[in-house]
Amino acid sequence: MGEDHWAELHAPPSGKGSIVGWADVSDLLADMDKAGVERAILLGWYWENQKTCDRQNRWHVDWVREHPDRFIGFAAVQPMAEDRAFESVRRAIDQGLSGIGEMLPPAQGFSHTNSTWLQILEWAQEEKLPITIHVTEAVGHDYPGKVETPLAEYQWLAQQFPDLNILLAHWGGGLPFYELNAVCRSDFKNFFYDTAASPLLYDKKVFRVVSDMVGADKVLFGSDYPLRLFPKVDKKPGFERFLEQIDNAGLTEVEKEKILGGNARKLFGLV
Ligand SMILES: [Zn+2]
Repeated sequence: MGEDHWAELHAPPSGKGSIVGWADVSDLLADMDKAGVERAILLGWYWENQKTCDRQNRWHVDWVREHPDRFIGFAAVQPMAEDRAFESVRRAIDQGLSGIGEMLPPAQGFSHTNSTWLQILEWAQEEKLPITIHVTEAVGHDYPGKVETPLAEYQWLAQQFPDLNILLAHWGGGLPFYELNAVCRSDFKNFFYDTAASPLLYDKKVFRVVSDMVGADKVLFGSDYPLRLFPKVDKKPGFERFLEQIDNAGLTEVEKEKILGGNARKLFGLV
């Protein structure tokens, strides 16, 4: 189907040791119920073909329509498809989706200076649509799917689109640390950091440390479901163990409330 990056991650040639989990909508809803998760934000994959983005977007539109009180959906897009990409992402938003992403330009074969991408970002800024971009930590261990994402590009993006809400996945690959620098702090004012896949990447101290560096207002709970975040102990995906970890990460009740829903409610106008 021409989705080599996805295929490499989801069907590794060795076939073993994969942390990928699988779930359909009813599994997801059941896991949310089990863990007391009221709403989930459905993020698309960084597909290489617009056709695959379109298919994913149709699924998200359907699921949001079927469960409007449980799901918020994001749209996938491949800016390399130029006008067709822009039309398609606009349609997906018209049909009820609420943001764009997760994007990973190096895996999708475009750069942040791609003219269609800049057009989409300009429009997203006007329409107050948040975008999510994958960020890889610049150091650390190698793993399937690790793609280099130079951090300076995100700063450039923030400077170009100061009013666009930019959600950086996986704790922004370490960008929160640079908010201790005065110039970055002001450039990064519209950055939010999500916690997707955190247990696979960082010690649970990351919750306390990042909240101290950037404030809990900029941290959003993300899971990376159905990835198995505790592969040694959990054979299936779920939210409970990760939520338990956050509960014991030294956050105040107010900080937890913000990270686990308050910030997202504000971002999506649900308050
Ligand atoms: Zn990601």
